[in-house]
Amino acid sequence: RAKAAGRGRWATFDEAMREEAMRILDLEADLRRAINGDGFMAFYQPIVRLTDRSVVGHEALLRWSHASGGLLTPASFVNVGENSSLIEEVDWLVYAQVADRIAHSSGGYISVNVSPRHFRDSAFAERLLRLMDKAKADPHRLRIEITEVALLDEAPRVLNMLKHLRGHGVLAQLDDFGTGFSALSYLHRFPIECLKIDQSFIAGLGSETRVESEAVVRAIQALAGSLGIQTVAEGIESLHQQRLVRELGCTLGQGYLYGRPLPELVESVEPLEILAG
Ligand code: C2E
Ligand code: MG
Ligand code: MG
Ligand code: MG
Repeated sequence: RAKAAGRGRWATFDEAMREEAMRILDLEADLRRAINGDGFMAFYQPIVRLTDRSVVGHEALLRWSHASGGLLTPASFVNVGENSSLIEEVDWLVYAQVADRIAHSSGGYISVNVSPRHFRDSAFAERLLRLMDKAKADPHRLRIEITEVALLDEAPRVLNMLKHLRGHGVLAQLDDFGTGFSALSYLHRFPIECLKIDQSFIAGLGSETRVESEAVVRAIQALAGSLGIQTVAEGIESLHQQRLVRELGCTLGQGYLYGRPLPELVESVEPLEILAG
């Protein structure tokens, strides 16, 4: 009897695994179709100067308009892509759209997310610059967002890549800062223009982890100040959070308070009086 029950459990487990595998295969096939079609789009979210809310740039964020699932954000499919390297192909679709957008607009920078996978490709920087050149897009208006992990993993290679890109006007910002290893000791060796303070700390400012979050933001601010680099506070949703990050010394912000990611670039966001009212 015990044996039968055991076998039953395994059968159920197998079934669940099989279903999960099928789901991933389905998603991969869908991804593949979308790459060849026009399912992937770059959306753009404004980044503003906190003093006057002028728009200094945008971050390009991947959206997948899936036949059955509506508009999907990366969380729902990036894992599948990461495993099968499809995400690199998807990234290149985003970069091509961004190059095009830069060529046909004026104004601030557009930053793109670069997954650590790309750093294994020694031709990455050259390929990105060629793409910009072909689109007749000014590389000074392109920025890349990388995470701290990338700096640790392939330090010498990444350093060369960042220098190469910077030499052509493409600046780098560190994304989700504060969540990784924050190996502060070697940060100064990399040409980093800006630290993007992870949104978990901004969310934490108004919650029961207020003291810890404030300490982290303060420390990042002090570090950035001493290195002479800027910070962007990510995920600002309320005027309260805006006031707190300004008090802590942040100069730039990004979040739903200023605008959600949209298919178009914006030239301005709601003025302070309207948002305050
Ligand atoms: P990220 O680079 O840190 O991007 C910021 C995320 O925070 C975005 O989520 C954005 O929509 C969201 N966000 C912005 N303001 C607020 C706010 O006020 N409140 C809250 N709760 N969220 C806010 P999204 O678009 O879902 O992207 C998630 C992550 O997926 C990104 O985090 C990035 O790591 C990755 N990703 C996005 N687009 C691309 C891409 O084209 N290529 C690669 N490789 N990764 C991408
Ligand atoms: Mg980012
Ligand atoms: Mg981020
Ligand atoms: Mg993030």
